Amino acid sequence: MKSIYSILLVQFLFVVSSFAKDFDFFYFVQQWPGSYCDSKQSCCYPSTGKPEADFGIHGLWPNYNDGSYPSQCDPTRPFDQSQVSELLRRMQTEWPTLACPSGDGMKFWSHEWEKHGTCSSLDQHSYFQITLDLKNQVNLLQALATAGIEPNGQSYSLKSIKDGIKEGVGYTPYVECNVDTSGNSQLYQIYLCVDRSASTLIECPIFPHGKCGSEIEFPIF
Ligand code: 5GP
Ligand code: 5GP
Repeated sequence: MKSIYSILLVQFLFVVSSFAKDFDFFYFVQQWPGSYCDSKQSCCYPSTGKPEADFGIHGLWPNYNDGSYPSQCDPTRPFDQSQVSELLRRMQTEWPTLACPSGDGMKFWSHEWEKHGTCSSLDQHSYFQITLDLKNQVNLLQALATAGIEPNGQSYSLKSIKDGIKEGVGYTPYVECNVDTSGNSQLYQIYLCVDRSASTLIECPIFPHGKCGSEIEFPIF
């Protein structure tokens, strides 16, 4: 009798676990601070000071191959600053918040952890550390500079930006644009894809939707 119950229990657990469909890959998303600031919403520098003129991390987002994505996967694991205390200085320089009013970053990081990180099957410390390490692996500004593309307020073709990143980083990015206060399309975020283990860049299984102009501005920051 006991063994029937344990078989039923195993079957029950199997059915339940197969409902919680795992994700397929990550988007690793970086933002250009000049474009976040040069828009209608405007920006506020973090309380720790003006960020470097470099791409900053937006997040590491679990995604499905069909383009949909899981979010807020575990309300029982809220952001806990003490788990990332060793990483804080790196987070301040490489993952700065630009939203208003000025903050120290905790709100941005807790939002990213709770919305995306809790779906990543990583613990909090690993989620932030792995994302910071990905940023070290990928030097977007250098790849673009090598292709003659610099944040100087000029416009570049979308194709030259994609090709430059493909050449320097090895993978084709998705480029997201926003519009500046005069309505020009500008380079806002760069998406690269990472495998489920969060260690290896891959070609993206699917790109988000959205469009840039064919010529896009790369604003000064
Ligand atoms: P927006 O609507 O501004 O493009 O995106 C708002 C937020 O939704 C993003 O910052 C991100 O948290 C989430 N998001 C948007 N598109 C995607 C996507 O394709 N995959 C994932 N995982 N999250 C997304
Ligand atoms: P997502 O778009 O990832 O869902 O959410 C971004 C959230 O983080 C928004 O609520 C936004 O106000 C906040 N946030 C704080 N700092 C930043 C920042 O530097 N960039 C972006 N894109 N969002 C930020």
